[in-house]
Amino acid sequence: MNSQRSSDVLVVGAGIAGLSHAIAAVERGLSVTIIDRDARAVGASIRNFGHACVTAQTGELAELAQVAREKWLRYGSLAGYLHVESGALAIARTAAESAVLDELARSRESGQVRLLTTAEVRRHLGEASDPAIRGGALLRDDLRVDPRQAVGALAAWLAEQPGVAFWWRTSYLGASDGVVRTTRGDFRAERTIVCVGHDLDLLHPELAEQYQVERCALQMARVEAPEGLVLGPAVLTGTSMLRYPAFAETDAAAALRVEMAARHPELVDIAANVMFTQRPDGTLIVGDSHRYGVTQDPFLAESTSATLLDEIAKILGVTGLHVLERWQGVYASSARQPFLIAAAEPGVTAAIVTSGVGMTISLGLAERTFAGF
Ligand SMILES: Cc1cc2nc3c(=O)[nH]c(=O)nc-3n(C[C@H](O)[C@H](O)[C@H](O)COP(=O)(O)OP(=O)(O)OC[C@H]3O[C@@H](n4cnc5c(N)ncnc54)[C@H](O)[C@@H]3O)c2cc1C
Repeated sequence: MNSQRSSDVLVVGAGIAGLSHAIAAVERGLSVTIIDRDARAVGASIRNFGHACVTAQTGELAELAQVAREKWLRYGSLAGYLHVESGALAIARTAAESAVLDELARSRESGQVRLLTTAEVRRHLGEASDPAIRGGALLRDDLRVDPRQAVGALAAWLAEQPGVAFWWRTSYLGASDGVVRTTRGDFRAERTIVCVGHDLDLLHPELAEQYQVERCALQMARVEAPEGLVLGPAVLTGTSMLRYPAFAETDAAAALRVEMAARHPELVDIAANVMFTQRPDGTLIVGDSHRYGVTQDPFLAESTSATLLDEIAKILGVTGLHVLERWQGVYASSARQPFLIAAAEPGVTAAIVTSGVGMTISLGLAERTFAGF
């Protein structure tokens, strides 16, 4: 923290969205103050899988994801967080899932979605993995970062740049006419960019209502990996194919949707996206379920965790998984649009990812925000 109270840009929120905007300001030679209500970022940006889900996006999300991909790599080297050009592994366990992967592979330039044999999938997941696995696909452009490391490392790198100041444990109260009101007094900035994720509804409720922003709560866990498992890519399943647009927009997805409802109502009930990634210490981040609402119950249903853990144990071919940690993550969600860049007040812009792809697109979204100034 330093004494800077006046800057070209003030960013509210030090999650991946706020840091992405601070980086975009620094790249333009602007001075920037970043405030966050906590002593360090502990929101959605450290609670996720660290999966930059680039290949399975379409349209403008795909464009933002490709811009973000380049920046994850560039700043990974500068800031020193784990970043792996691993791609992602989508596994198929039914004919309907294979049909989605086949159709996606056919629609992409060669090599972007590479179909895999059962043996190739087992090379990633181990020989004991689910006998139902009939193949898969490697999604070339996906990246993996360690979420618990990346955001802190980016903040530390930014703090060393000239013209950058962080004010932690400092809450934003509102802004007008270039004056930003906080719990530590007033700041001045030409532009204020509000990147508070799902807390938009607390700070600019009229904007949250206009864009139909609500909260999505997800149940997650960190588990011990089966012995010897070394995973490069994030692992996605049939449930992921019903979520990410490039899969979900295939013709073949319709049959998969029907099949999933008939064969796995327990996964459909919790709106599961069964997937996992490996942390640098070897443990697995596993999840996740989705619950939508303006206000979220704080209670985590054990049956939801059990459903997810059973499914992942089955994929890995083990009888059970030893849970080390459980947590709830919350992100902003809107049925209307996957992100918003909107004026909250004159000189105040809210930049919020309103879908579960903030790690995938935020570094690209910041470019879009600045292009609009
Ligand atoms: C469990 C889970 C798994 C996910 N997996 C993935 C994934 O693998 N890939 C992917 O692309 N995306 C994933 N996402 C989505 C992604 O994590 C989010 O979209 C992204 O982290 C949102 O970033 P953010 O900076 O907007 O929010 P946050 O990280 O929540 O940051 C918001 C910051 O604003 C601060 N703040 C709030 N109010 C104030 C205030 N009044 N004053 C000052 N500061 C304030 C908070 O302290 C916080 O640090 C996942 C999300 C969850 C929850």
